[in-house]
Amino acid sequence: MKIIRSDLQRYHEPQLFRITLFDIGVIDLGAPETPVEVELTVYQQGEDFLLNGLVRTDLRLACDRCLGDVLCPVEGAFKVWLVSEIPSALNVDEEEVLVFQSRKQEVELSSIVAGTIYIELPSKTLCREDCKGFCPTCGTDLNTKPCGCVTEETDERWSVLLAIKQQLEE
Ligand SMILES: [Zn+2]
Ligand SMILES: [Zn+2]
Repeated sequence: MKIIRSDLQRYHEPQLFRITLFDIGVIDLGAPETPVEVELTVYQQGEDFLLNGLVRTDLRLACDRCLGDVLCPVEGAFKVWLVSEIPSALNVDEEEVLVFQSRKQEVELSSIVAGTIYIELPSKTLCREDCKGFCPTCGTDLNTKPCGCVTEETDERWSVLLAIKQQLEE
């Protein structure tokens, strides 16, 4: 996602960019054509620009337990200063500063937008809170049906009880 200097200078209202995951080089969070919205507000201060961005997308991720599709709305914000030269004393967070020399005509924001999405990813992706996932023994999707393995466990417990019962009766 590249922005041209002359555009930055004329953005007085928030600008909405409709791009895709592919455009910002993200290939591991679902289909490359997944839409991403970036709302950019630009403030100019001399040769420098302050960019405030809002990033929104709906990612289709795999459930951690059953691998089923999960639609994850992701929303995050970024703030970055484009400075013509690094000031001797930085009074802002260094991560929020990007050198944008006055001879450069465009600035690449893809990694900033991508980073905003990665930061906002859910720590756990579940299709639903109580997703049962797969049986570790037979691989059955336990959300669709119970599997034989659970019954076997019950049988084992029964057999222990039966053995005790038999011992008591003897
Ligand atoms: Zn699941
Ligand atoms: Zn099983």
